[in-house]
Amino acid sequence: QIQRALRSLTIPLERLHIMKGHMMQDMCKGLSRQTYTQAKVRMLPTYVCSTPNGTEKGNFLVVELCQSQVRTLLVTLYGDGNLSPQMMYKIFDIPEGLTQGEGEALFDFIAQCVSQFLADTASSDTSSSEERLPLGFVFPFSCWQTQLDKAELISWSKGFSCSGVVGKDVVQLLKSAINKVGGGGMEASGGWLTPWRGWKSSQVTAGELSRVDVVALMNDTVGTMMTCSTEGRPCEIAVVADKGSNCCFMAEAHLVETAEETSGRMCVNTEWGCFGDDGTLSDIVTPYDQCVDEESPNPGEKRFEKLVGSLYLGEIVRHALIALTAEKAIFTESYPAILKEKGVLTTQQVLQILNNEEGTSEAKRVMESLGLQPSERDCSRVQQICRAVVCRAATLYATGLAAILSYMCQTRELEQLIVNVGVEGELHQGYTRFEEILQSVSKLLSPECIATLLPSRDGSGRGAAMVTAVALRLAAQRCVVNEVLRPLRLSRADLEQVQALMRQEMERGLGRNTHATASVRMLPTYVCNTPDGTERGDFLALDLGGTNFRVLLVRVTQEGISMASEIYVIPKSIMQGTGEALFDHIIECIMDFQQKQNMMMDILPLGFTFSFPCQQVGLDKALLLTWTKGFSASGCVGQDVVHLLREAAQRKQHLGLKVVALVNDTVGTMMSCGYDDPKCEIGLIVGTGTNACYMEEMRNVGTVEGQQGRMCINMEWGAFGDNGCLDHIFTHFDRIVDADTINPGKQRFEKLISGMYLGEIVRHILLVLREKELLFQGKPCPKLETKDIFKTKFLSTIELSNGLALRQIRAILQELDLDASFEDSVLLREVCQAVSLRAAQLCAAGLAAVVEKMRENRGLDQLAVTVGVDGTLYKLHPCFSDNLQKTLQELAPKCNVTFLLSEDGSGKGAALVAAVACRSAN
Ligand code: ADP
Ligand code: MG
Repeated sequence: QIQRALRSLTIPLERLHIMKGHMMQDMCKGLSRQTYTQAKVRMLPTYVCSTPNGTEKGNFLVVELCQSQVRTLLVTLYGDGNLSPQMMYKIFDIPEGLTQGEGEALFDFIAQCVSQFLADTASSDTSSSEERLPLGFVFPFSCWQTQLDKAELISWSKGFSCSGVVGKDVVQLLKSAINKVGGGGMEASGGWLTPWRGWKSSQVTAGELSRVDVVALMNDTVGTMMTCSTEGRPCEIAVVADKGSNCCFMAEAHLVETAEETSGRMCVNTEWGCFGDDGTLSDIVTPYDQCVDEESPNPGEKRFEKLVGSLYLGEIVRHALIALTAEKAIFTESYPAILKEKGVLTTQQVLQILNNEEGTSEAKRVMESLGLQPSERDCSRVQQICRAVVCRAATLYATGLAAILSYMCQTRELEQLIVNVGVEGELHQGYTRFEEILQSVSKLLSPECIATLLPSRDGSGRGAAMVTAVALRLAAQRCVVNEVLRPLRLSRADLEQVQALMRQEMERGLGRNTHATASVRMLPTYVCNTPDGTERGDFLALDLGGTNFRVLLVRVTQEGISMASEIYVIPKSIMQGTGEALFDHIIECIMDFQQKQNMMMDILPLGFTFSFPCQQVGLDKALLLTWTKGFSASGCVGQDVVHLLREAAQRKQHLGLKVVALVNDTVGTMMSCGYDDPKCEIGLIVGTGTNACYMEEMRNVGTVEGQQGRMCINMEWGAFGDNGCLDHIFTHFDRIVDADTINPGKQRFEKLISGMYLGEIVRHILLVLREKELLFQGKPCPKLETKDIFKTKFLSTIELSNGLALRQIRAILQELDLDASFEDSVLLREVCQAVSLRAAQLCAAGLAAVVEKMRENRGLDQLAVTVGVDGTLYKLHPCFSDNLQKTLQELAPKCNVTFLLSEDGSGKGAALVAAVACRSAN
């Protein structure tokens, strides 16, 4: 019989694996918005979103409601890594009956305790009496928390049953009580006040209590986790193995669907004591457990807790002994009637027996203290049962812990999780092998995780001070971060204003008398038609001014467009030599390409994508305004680029060249998309730089003769604001970035939006945040001082990591010699989001001006139009296009705008301009 009893208390490893799986399932259920109401493991959000980093300092008051006491604590932190907090505490016994009386009386008592404690410590409290005193409230009951300082009691437990509290915000109840006590309104209250009326109430002035701010409420589990955290060693799980049983851990905030927070992490209070209340544990529950449950005030509930909580272990042993007695396996000499009495065998005694296992003398002593006369064999059997029950509890704790470990490892997408676990409670302290079992069994069940157990003594009090301190640190940091980022956050009104200004500059750029001074140049392109799909033939295209120089053959047929191309290098000596040499080189490349394509003899129309600012005077006539991008070939500025090309062809005796059109890359983009979608009448580029073009009514183009039809206008909108009209939206960071470019004061709109600058803006913000010690703990980061070291593509990676791939953020930062904490990563992402969001919104404001003008031009209530887009930033950034489209929708609700990605706009587009020109000419 004894063997059978022991076996029933031993859970095989496979069964533990299954249980771990169930626990993980229940955890997910508890976090999901759809299923949390049915979950047994409640997974309550705590709104504790950070662990201490050691910089916390100041005085913090803690009041903790315990089983039969109220503990008050004053903790002074010195910002020294929390190595040597100074603590003063006082414990007050809760008067008889208060825990079952009126809720108001209980909270008044708690406020009285705080008041008394303040009076006692006032002299030693070095802070000035005006200073606010933040208070953390440890309230070890299940609460539905909606903020750090807002928590509704779900249900009482541990013998409490005060009226009028369930469903109420307990922080508010404490605040009211503090106000009442502080205001001196206590004397008239009920008779329970008597026992502590003798306190030095005369010293308790209203002033002192009114300094108290209730900042945070937390469960004791959370307090334990926080105490174990010190600088450089965050503790992210806490297991409380006490009378009750509970566990909390830092979950990815976006997985906590029941809370509003979505970035970073949040501590979740698992309330795992109720695990198994749906029957999942029925096959491991023994008849002894069944008896314990039936005798409890809440049968059927908290099944897991009743297997592991120290409130129950003595009872489980007692029922096992009763059963074994009945089976005559133990105490055969004398009938142990005493064992029928509930609670005669305490967990404390069970642990004493276990901790003296060398002999049976302790078992004998305990049994004798119960009035039994055990034989030697009885003693060793009692000892065996005790061991089985307590080992099982430790094993179950380990299984729960393993579930948490694996869950964290999976949701953080790690191959290996290394984590610290705070452990506290009677069982942990009272049973020498507890830690060893917890460690080894969790390791067996979750081999992918390395957990370091950190014992915590008196965690909840000091931890509560930490939570309070961290909350205040974060609130203060939040203020500064908001201050830094506020200028980057544009309101709807700001964007509407940018839109109006863009519209104004567009009109000025188009006007015959105003265009010379407009910041948006609105250059005519002499492209008057978009493709209609009937274009056919073979065309040559040149692409100069992008990342590479290319020559292309574009074949437009009924079936679609096919292309062949070749990339050619333009040596620096040629880029910066004479114009003649440059264009000679270009012709040589064309000839080489034609040779390779076996088409030396063909005379093909050629479209030339020339991505430098030009004053176009005809489709095939464009005066170079200035070189950019490292080109400086002499004798070109002010000249017609097409003419230069034709002259070179003549010099090289290449007589088969028919240059039809010179095209800007925005126009190429519009045209290449226009071939697939006839509604495409706008071209947009968001790459290294930004620019746009669109089809304008000829009658509005004051700079070109003629009233009929439309012409594509190359806006050159990157220069928007160069006349000062955007000065009010430029931030400190924008001004620094601008000043550090080769063209300060120029292309101001572009410098808010495009790939060449976003990384730089972020870099300068990071430098300021570091300076303010909000990042990298204020440690110096010399690499970050280097211009262009923070690439715009980093924004894409960083913003893509939705709380998961934070490893990638770390990797990026490590390249910059920065060792980022989790919170650094979260803040970094916020900075990137602010910068890229603003870029997308400004781009949308510009586009809104364009589409609204087109709609008005055409006298339409509703305009449907397509934008052809090119540029790596637009294409690869995870949020840019969404933000752009969403904002545009808001700013121009009467326009239905579709976005179409351009494939090789500068190659295909140039050929299509040539094709359309040929079609029109025919
Ligand atoms: P260009 O504008 O010179 O024709 P692209 O359209 O390819 O060239 O744009 C290049 C720019 O795109 C780079 O300057 C860089 O800032 C930016 N960029 C490159 N990769 C990414 C990325 N993954 N996410 C966002 N921006 C990127
Ligand atoms: Mg490009």
